[in-house]
Amino acid sequence: MVRPEIQALTAYHVPPASGMIKLDAMENPWPWPESLREAWLEQLRPVELNRYPDPSAQALRSVLREAMSVPDSAELVLGNGSDELIQMIIQTVAAPGRSVLAPEPTFVMYRQTALVAGMKFCGVPLREDFTLDRAALLEAVEREAPAVVFLAYPNNPTGNLFDAGAIRELLALAPGLVVVDEAYAPFTDASFMSGLPDHGNLLVLRTVSKLGLAGLRLGLLAGNPAWLEQVDKTRLPYNLGTLNQVTARFALQHKAVFDAQAGQIRAARSELATGLRALPSLTVYPSEANFILFRTPAGRAAGIHEGLKQAGILIRNLHGSAAPLQDCLRVTVGQPQENAAFLAALEALLQPAES
Ligand code: PMP
Repeated sequence: MVRPEIQALTAYHVPPASGMIKLDAMENPWPWPESLREAWLEQLRPVELNRYPDPSAQALRSVLREAMSVPDSAELVLGNGSDELIQMIIQTVAAPGRSVLAPEPTFVMYRQTALVAGMKFCGVPLREDFTLDRAALLEAVEREAPAVVFLAYPNNPTGNLFDAGAIRELLALAPGLVVVDEAYAPFTDASFMSGLPDHGNLLVLRTVSKLGLAGLRLGLLAGNPAWLEQVDKTRLPYNLGTLNQVTARFALQHKAVFDAQAGQIRAARSELATGLRALPSLTVYPSEANFILFRTPAGRAAGIHEGLKQAGILIRNLHGSAAPLQDCLRVTVGQPQENAAFLAALEALLQPAES
């Protein structure tokens, strides 16, 4: 009874990481200050877990609007992680023969979720330097008339921002929705959030995961109320638990702590990039996110990935996932001593074997 398109998929794999320096999942490496942790636990004490959560998460919404600078005219839908919102957007428009389109390589869940929903997926190859192929993208949008276009901005796993002018052209041309996925917003100054009132078919997707709350599972989708009224119908009634709502509200009331951590991550990113660029055999791609993509000498990615693992450091091997990512590895920016340990281990692995 299992549909062939499901049988053909591979489940999203998360490797075990216990005891490792974990630089594979774009998490914020900094724990909460102890004083914040105590104040948070006090907020949890009166929570009544015998009752269902507030299905519309009213108290959280206003804090999120402010924290994410959502324009007053835009509506919000909240999800159990932005993954769930990707699923809800796709379910809203899914029908046989309709397509979802995204430049590739990109976040794999756009493709996976489209296929699970029985839709076609159209991947438009990025240029060799991972910039947007504007002409190919616009041509594909005219040809496919996709129900949704997903643009990760900055893109995962490449780390770069696509050209904003090309995105505006796409917004004018696309017959359906254009979702700008700003999962990595804490690490860049670029955003389409303030552009929401100008584009009726634009939705901006955000998450609190990369800011430092990956364990919570909370994403938000902002945009045209008419569209979001429809998307909200696909939401399961109590998709955000009470602990999630109370914790997110508390954390965002202390957003300055997380913003400071994001600032530290940005500074560490440029140090890490400098360290990687000092290793002559690597190609290092520019990043506006909290990770860096780099290309190893031909045929070395799997060995280096495994060597780092033996040294207790977990990063992401992208070799084999798609042809343009051949020999590529992706490292998440960690704490300075984690980044230093990673660079030292990588440098040792890149040394030519002694004869
Ligand atoms: N969008 C992009 C571009 C991502 O890279 C990720 C996670 N890696 C997500 C969305 C999903 O994030 P979450 O479900 O944690 O909100």
